[in-house]
Amino acid sequence: MPQIAKIAVAAAIYGIDRPFDYRIPPQMEGRVQPGMRVAIPFGRGNRLSDGVVLAVGEPSKEDRLKAVQTVLDREPVLSETNIQLALWMREQYFCTVYDAIRGMLPAGLWYSLREKWKLAPGTEREDLYRVAGEDAACVHLADLLCSHGGEAELGEIQQSFDGRDPWPALQKLEQAGVLVRQAEGIPAVKDKLEERVALAMEPEEAMALVSARRRRAPLQYQVVKVLCEMGEASAKEVCYFTGASLATLRALRKQALITMYQQEVFRSPARKMGDPSPTTMTLNEPQRNAADGLWALMEPKRPEAALLYGVTGSGKTQVYMDLIRRGLQQGRGAMVLVPEIALTPQLMERFAGCFGQQVAILHSGLSVGERYDEWKRVRSGAAMVVVGTRSAVFAPVQNLGLVVLDEEQEPSYQSEQTPRYHARDIARYRCGKEGALLLLGSATPSVETMYQAQKGRYHLFTLEQRFNQQALPNVTVVDMRAELKAGHGGIVSRPLRKALQETFDRGEQAILFVNRRGSSNLVLCGECGQSPSCPRCSVHLTYHRANGRLMCHYCGYSQPLPSRCPECGGEFGFAGAGTQKVEEELLALFPHATVLRMDTDTVTGVQGHAKMLTRFREENISVLVGTQMIAKGLDFENVTLVGAVAADQGLYMEDYRGGERTFSLLTQVAGRAGRGGKKGQAFIQTFTPDHEIIQCASRQDYDGFYRQEIRMRQLRGAPPFADYFVVHVTGREELEVMRVCARLHQALEQMLRHTMEEKTPWRILGPAPAAVVKVNHRYRYRLTLQTQNTKQVRGLVGYLVQQAQNDPANRKVSVYADINPQS
Ligand code: ADP
Ligand code: ZN
Repeated sequence: MPQIAKIAVAAAIYGIDRPFDYRIPPQMEGRVQPGMRVAIPFGRGNRLSDGVVLAVGEPSKEDRLKAVQTVLDREPVLSETNIQLALWMREQYFCTVYDAIRGMLPAGLWYSLREKWKLAPGTEREDLYRVAGEDAACVHLADLLCSHGGEAELGEIQQSFDGRDPWPALQKLEQAGVLVRQAEGIPAVKDKLEERVALAMEPEEAMALVSARRRRAPLQYQVVKVLCEMGEASAKEVCYFTGASLATLRALRKQALITMYQQEVFRSPARKMGDPSPTTMTLNEPQRNAADGLWALMEPKRPEAALLYGVTGSGKTQVYMDLIRRGLQQGRGAMVLVPEIALTPQLMERFAGCFGQQVAILHSGLSVGERYDEWKRVRSGAAMVVVGTRSAVFAPVQNLGLVVLDEEQEPSYQSEQTPRYHARDIARYRCGKEGALLLLGSATPSVETMYQAQKGRYHLFTLEQRFNQQALPNVTVVDMRAELKAGHGGIVSRPLRKALQETFDRGEQAILFVNRRGSSNLVLCGECGQSPSCPRCSVHLTYHRANGRLMCHYCGYSQPLPSRCPECGGEFGFAGAGTQKVEEELLALFPHATVLRMDTDTVTGVQGHAKMLTRFREENISVLVGTQMIAKGLDFENVTLVGAVAADQGLYMEDYRGGERTFSLLTQVAGRAGRGGKKGQAFIQTFTPDHEIIQCASRQDYDGFYRQEIRMRQLRGAPPFADYFVVHVTGREELEVMRVCARLHQALEQMLRHTMEEKTPWRILGPAPAAVVKVNHRYRYRLTLQTQNTKQVRGLVGYLVQQAQNDPANRKVSVYADINPQS
């Protein structure tokens, strides 16, 4: 009897996803193994889809199963543990098993499936026409194949059918045995080429030529100017910096002003390799105590979890390195995850200096090929240490002994695309299965993590002092209401302005930080600094231009925008200063200062980030203005002043994490000042100087923050006391989206009433618009179920989403769910 394979199918949506059974044809027996990719016919039309074999099973009685078409891999790309993890993720994150697998493997490993149709071996053309008979579509197909030498790709066939469906004809001829199909995997990785541009003459000469026609051809002028500065650059960069198009570049090439050529991009990530020197670290006493305690957890190969809570600069990274070194001596691998791509090069250097070629780097800033090559080094065991961002948590590290999540509170550890996982959960799962230590590191741990540590579920280790005993900077809280009353409506307050001037005079540097998440739809009273909040949810309301109302993003409550502040009668204004506005104001205030702006507009890729930071350091630029991306990990000796210009904005985020994020950011920002020998100072500008979170941040008082925040969470029933399951509905028609959302609310409520036990509290909020209600022409609404995360609840939510996806009445919308999303 034939064996069967259980397969996760790419073409199956979540609504119908399950392992599908396929027959393994005799010629493939023994070749199909769990963890291999295959091509299989799927659905009513039997179109080919790719899939992953989850298990090879007992011979089945069922004899009408479809057969596996092609085996795409020679050896499994997934281990048994990976497969178990994918099944677990499906249950946790409401995604298909295939989605989970897809998130696990590097893109370079993926094939695109190509499908070919051919005359069956031994079939003559006459046979083909005989079977085709009078059927016009079949005859057309026969003509096509014969004129193409007996074979054609599905794409070509579809094109030649000009909108009609070739499937009935293909199937008819296949069943008659005159046609066969073949699937072929085309690997995703190819050589990467980049178009480079350079001046074809001396810069002066080129400038003279284009200056003459600066008016007529301003873009050509800009391109030449940029090339004079940069020497040589990729065509993409030049277009990006100048706004020119490829056509402009070609025109310049035609005039022989520039040259363009293709260059292969190297596939191994840039790294500085120091000599491996694992023995030179000497930990100080607190570090040694932490490292010894952690090693005692790590050595016995048991699942363990610990929190290393230590201020920035206390030497957490040194402790990680010590544990990794000890693990390596016993042949155990390790993984260090960092929140931002931008942090990997710095950390990479430190790790590479210590462990040399044993380190692999994995993050989305690498090319597909680079990532693929690094992944292979990890899988083979050549690299035992992985440094990377979120998805590196899936890296196939051999004999895993340690997983570090540095700055574990950072939102970037949660994926905002399917599969919507949190790296901390995946790491926890893996450490549990592989007998490794999960080590969460932070100066400002998430409230959830600290709660677990307080409850004794994580072992807690603390580093209280900065390594060099350096004092934390002086922090000044600036009351922006007073500034307004005194007639200073600008972004930069008078005290900050004075401090900036003094800093520049001393030849020192400053960093100004602008909260990217604050947005222009948040309203604040200019007098008292209050922002209207929802009477039901105690979160701040945001303004919706579309209907001119203030709305709550949890429960959907809305009210008109009051003309005056109900608290004090002051006037409302929109909060939110972008980096660009800050830059403009600085240049107006300090005409002689140099300003460097760093945000997602000015920084492209990992290199862009590093280059700008190098410029800031080497050219001694007066002030760096930037978003979140400058808050972490930077270490500049000459920076003695740091300012957070709209420190409030994060507080008013409608998310329950608003307070935590603001605290964490402000603490990190203040920590940037005075890293060298000089004393630093920090300014926090705010409309709510008495807010406890601002106060705690100004004192760098995490414990005070935690005490206050955990009380708030308990009151609101927010994590860690309950979880938020969010069901998202999106679609092009707003009314339809709202209707579906309302129907789902009813359905969910009924299910919960019937199944939940009396004592388990739950509530459903919404339908409510998402923080940004319309993205890419699609409206986004959500329901939030606030309750304990149990298997039963996950089952209910999963069922609700599956039903919704399968309901033909919902064909105009998409429905998906996630848990405790970041916004
Ligand atoms: P954290 O990761 O907690 O922010 P780091 O490990 O980056 O702290 O340490 C901060 C600085 O102090 C680094 O420049 C590091 O080289 C230095 N440092 C920390 N511990 C030691 C040590 N035991 N010996 C030498 N330098 C140390
Ligand atoms: Zn509300």
